[in-house]
Amino acid sequence: MIKDNISVVKSNIVAACKRAGRDCNDVTLIAVSKTKPVSDIEEAYQTGTIDFGENKVQELNTKYPVLPQDIKWHLIGHLQTNKVKYIIDKVTLIHSVDSFKLAAQIDKEAEKCGINKDILIEVNVADEDTKFGLRYDETIDVVKEISTLKYVHIKGLMTIAPYTEEPESNRIYFKKLRELSETISSLNIPNVEMKELSMGMTGDYEVAIEEGATLVRVGTGIFGNRSYPQ
Ligand SMILES: *Cc1c(COP(=O)(O)O)cnc(C)c1O
Repeated sequence: MIKDNISVVKSNIVAACKRAGRDCNDVTLIAVSKTKPVSDIEEAYQTGTIDFGENKVQELNTKYPVLPQDIKWHLIGHLQTNKVKYIIDKVTLIHSVDSFKLAAQIDKEAEKCGINKDILIEVNVADEDTKFGLRYDETIDVVKEISTLKYVHIKGLMTIAPYTEEPESNRIYFKKLRELSETISSLNIPNVEMKELSMGMTGDYEVAIEEGATLVRVGTGIFGNRSYPQ
């Protein structure tokens, strides 16, 4: 089932790339495995998927030691500064950096471990009260501030678009995030790369790819609905 879902998502990705005239090697599928058991992740891994996304530090820490070491873990959920130390040496990319304070903590822990850490800056493009992320118009200043940190490297931007049944309605937010990344890129800030755009989930990843997504985060479309404890 999971295998079939992955092949459907992958062929949708290829089709979206074709429509947009993009090379599909520039789009990475991140399988969002939050709330799902290790056995589901193993099944997805068998298809050659090695990028997985989790939104909770504790869950990632539980799964990490029992799964293959070549998995690339993406932290996609809100991160508290006091929890950075638990994941710093486990994650490939932290998608959800939305303050200088958090970036500074990542910098500090990375230095302790003797590593560098790639991060994305989360932008609340649709300006939703319920979401984390920087306001659109404060992003450039915060990017400049974070760029001064030595062990933290900004690789791009991330957004979580509003929940919708109508993917086209999110196109405007994906477009705005791409435009912001182009603006930042044109500023040539040292230690800042605008290589990645992490945007698009099960309901809207195809539109996101048409607007330039390089990382799509798909959970339900691969693993099925999530059930949360009541
Ligand atoms: C859960 C989650 C996803 C995946 O959502 P689906 O709609 O199940 O694909 C993507 N990004 C983030 C940040 C998430 O928390």
